[in-house]
This record gives sequence, structure tokens and C-alpha cells, in this order.
Amino acid sequence: MSELLDPPATALDLGLDWPNRFAALGPDFSTFLQPTPLPSPYWVGRNRALARELGLEESWLESQEALAAFTGNLPVAGGRPLASVYSGHQFGVWAGQLGDGRAILLGEAQTALGPQEIQLKGSGLTPYSRMGDGRAVLRSSIREFLCSEAMHGLGIPTSRALCVTGSDAPVVREEVETAAVVTRVAPSFIRFGHFEHFASRDQIGPLRTLADFVIDHHYPECRGSEHLAGNPYAALLQAVATRTADMVAQWQAVGFCHGVMNTDNMSILGLTVDYGPFQFLDGFNPGHICNHSDPGGRYAYNKQPNIAYWNLFCLGQALLPLIEDQELALAALEPFKTDYPRAFEARMRAKLGLADAREGDRDLIEAILKLLAAGRVDYSIFWRRLSLQVAGGSAEPVRDLFADRGALDAWMLQFSERQMTSGQGLSADLMLKINPKYVLRNHLGEQAIRQAKLKDFSGVQTLLTLLQAPFDEHPDHESLAGFPPDWAATIEISCSS
Ligand code: AMP
Ligand code: MG
Repeated sequence: MSELLDPPATALDLGLDWPNRFAALGPDFSTFLQPTPLPSPYWVGRNRALARELGLEESWLESQEALAAFTGNLPVAGGRPLASVYSGHQFGVWAGQLGDGRAILLGEAQTALGPQEIQLKGSGLTPYSRMGDGRAVLRSSIREFLCSEAMHGLGIPTSRALCVTGSDAPVVREEVETAAVVTRVAPSFIRFGHFEHFASRDQIGPLRTLADFVIDHHYPECRGSEHLAGNPYAALLQAVATRTADMVAQWQAVGFCHGVMNTDNMSILGLTVDYGPFQFLDGFNPGHICNHSDPGGRYAYNKQPNIAYWNLFCLGQALLPLIEDQELALAALEPFKTDYPRAFEARMRAKLGLADAREGDRDLIEAILKLLAAGRVDYSIFWRRLSLQVAGGSAEPVRDLFADRGALDAWMLQFSERQMTSGQGLSADLMLKINPKYVLRNHLGEQAIRQAKLKDFSGVQTLLTLLQAPFDEHPDHESLAGFPPDWAATIEISCSS
């Protein structure tokens, strides 16, 4: 008796509604197109936790249809695939038109997390590919997949990543590598650069449409308030500045370097997006440059807050035709200067287990950062050990991390006194929930990538599990929370991806 076979699928049906609101903005904003298929795809990483959060059936992550669809080889039912156009400043210089050169927005789905855009990165040529090939390589796709979820695990606003698929199709970078596609998820992938695009061309109609779209769907509170002379576009600028200040404060506190803070990589929602040559600091070096393509250090770790402000200034410039008042635009940006340090200090106080704010906290924070910098002390290990020491459970004293132990002892004394005078008392619990044990250090990503190149994807999945719960102990994976090996310092990550 012959078995009845299911007919081949003509589309992946996720069982969701697709409002596709960005697509409805029309041809000024994007070009409709289909992803370009890749041969013989395979799964590299799957994020079952995010699938559950989105309200998707987990079984589809096992299906051939999903593998095909998230490689760009099969349509997703209800989607309206497109590449959007944007411009931007790259490394401080106006770069003109850019756009989704290798990302294709499948559409916007109504999920259990609310409306979410689902985007494929590395899915083929678009009208905005310029000199590029529309592809992404396996190593950078694994890094983006893991880092998106690592940031989410740390509680830092970010785009998410649902899966990575790979194909043996060759992709030429410095050497021949293989292709991969990351499926990214965010409420919106609109960037500062989308606004700069229309402003630079004096296309005020589409600029207003875009701003209204963002306000209506993501910042409704910007309308109908007395604030900033009741100007909704100035209110939008200020709201974006506040979110950006908070995001960068969290980067700084956890020791994260983005690496390419070009205005086209800045999310209008204040999400961390476009993971390229990012790095979590190993030894604490405030001037650390993580991007091999940035020899001047424009995007060094300690420059990130100022660069965020510079980028917001570009956004302000782009919104000026709508705000129609330069003083108002400047007034909208002004709070960044206090929002950022306030957000940073709040985060650092929490890292110190201090539940209330006191005068002198800033000095205490600055003093320890200075000591960490002087000794190039491992940033994440310091904070975790300090947390464990406060909790009374550290076998490894914090002081062993420092060459200048006298200076550390003096600081510890001040710290203990501050903890005792704090109304809330000392809170080891708070510290253990904000100072991660596991961060995506370069060498950890590198090890998982080397394995993946040999078609062993277990390292990717293990890291995903740890990074999604970075404050938990995971005693079986102790070695992944240790100091970086010497070779970690020789890893060079550039814009090539
Ligand atoms: P990035 O520095 O990765 O944010 O990319 C800057 C711009 O170059 C964006 O418009 C990207 O879409 C585009 N781009 C980067 N890599 C490629 C590629 N391999 N093919 C096509 N476009 C690319
Ligand atoms: Mg980009």
C-alpha cells in the first residue's frame, strides 16, 4: 500500500495575522522583492524560548518548511517581503543612500509579544546592495544570533534572533566562507538613517509620514502633550534620546562595545541593533577599540555615550523640517546630558548592590572604575566576584584580581561603609541579578564558530542557553565563565561580515 504524502508546502504558515504596517507606507519607503534562495540549508541555531514567547508552535522549528522559509527559500504566508531605503552617517561622514542591502523584511506579524517585524539578514541582493553581495557569512551570523539573545538575557533593549540557518554556498570575504541567514525580530527596524534619508532629499512629505508612523505605533505619548510647546516631533526626538541614553548606559555598565555606531545602525526605538564587530570587555580598558576597521577609535568603549549624542544630533537635524524651530530641537536633546549620567549611575549603583542614591556614590563608582582600568582587571569577573563576596560565598577573593591591593582595600572599606549606611542595607541578591556570570566574550563566540564550521552546532546551542540566563550559576559550564585565554587578545573582528 502506498503511503499518502503531504503535498509540498507552498508557504510556511505560522498561524499568525500579518498587519504589515510598514509595507503599507508605500514605495517611497521600500521595494517589494523576494529573498534569493540558498542551496541545501541546515539549522545552525534555533531559539525555542523566543518561539514560545512569540506564541508559535514549537514543532514548526523542527520542520523542513521553517528551515526553507527562514533561509529565504519558501514564502511565509501573510508576509509582504521588502527591503527598506535609508541613508546615514558612517564614521562621522555623510554616506548618502544605504538601505537594506542584505536584509529583507518578511513582514510584520501579530504575535504574543505584540506586533513584531520578522527580518532575514543575508538573504540576497536588494536594490540597496551597492557593491555588496547581499549575503552574510556563518561566523558573523552566529555572533549576531548569540549576542542578540545575550543582550536580551542581560535585560538590555535589543532586536531578538529566532534562528540561524546555513548553506555551503560560498561567500567571498578576505577568504572564501559560507553563507548563513539570521532571522531577526523587533517591533520595528526603523533607524535614525530612515529619517536622514528623506530629510537629505528635502522629501518632507515622506519624512512626516515616517515620523507620524513612528509616533502613532511606538510613541503615542508624544501627541497631545503640552511638553516642548506641544510639538509632537520635538517630543519624539526627546523620547528617542531618553531611550538611547538608557540603552547606552546599560552598554557601558555591562562593558559592551557596539563597534559601529553609525546613524544607520541606531534604532529609533532605542534597541541595540546590527551586531557586527561588537565585544564585551575582557580586561577593563576604557579606550578599548573592538572594531579592527576603526583604527582611530571613533567608536571606542568610552566614546559611546558621546557618539550616541552626536547621532541624536543627526536625528534632530533630520527632524528639524518637522519641528520647525531650532531652539525646540536643541531643547529636546538637552535632557540627554543629564539622562545619560543618571541612567549610568543608577545601573552602577545597582551593580554595587546599593538600592538608594546617596551623595558620594559617583566618587565611589569612579574610584573603582579607575582601579579596574589601572590594573586592566577583568570587568565581568570583578563584578561577579564582588557580588559573591558580598553574598559571603566567594572562594576567590576580589583582591586577588588587583596588583595594587592597598588601593583596593581602601576602596573596599569605603564600599562597606557605604553599604552599611544605605537604608536598604547590603543587597547581594541585587548584585547577583545584575552582575552576569556569563557574557559573550569574543573567544567564546570564536570557539562556537570554529565548531560550527565543522558542522557541530552544539557550541552555539550551549552558549545560547547560558546567555539567555546569564545570572544563573550553570555549574556544568564553569569554564565558560573564566578568564579569556591568551589567544583571545589576538582575535581581530572587523566590519567584514
Ligand atoms: P553595516 O555596516 O553592516 O551596518 O552595513 C552598512 C550598509 O551596507 C547597510 O546598508 C548594509 O545593508 C550594507 N551591506 C553590508 N554588507 C552588505 C553585503 N554583504 N551586501 C549588501 N549590502 C551590504
Ligand atoms: Mg547596518
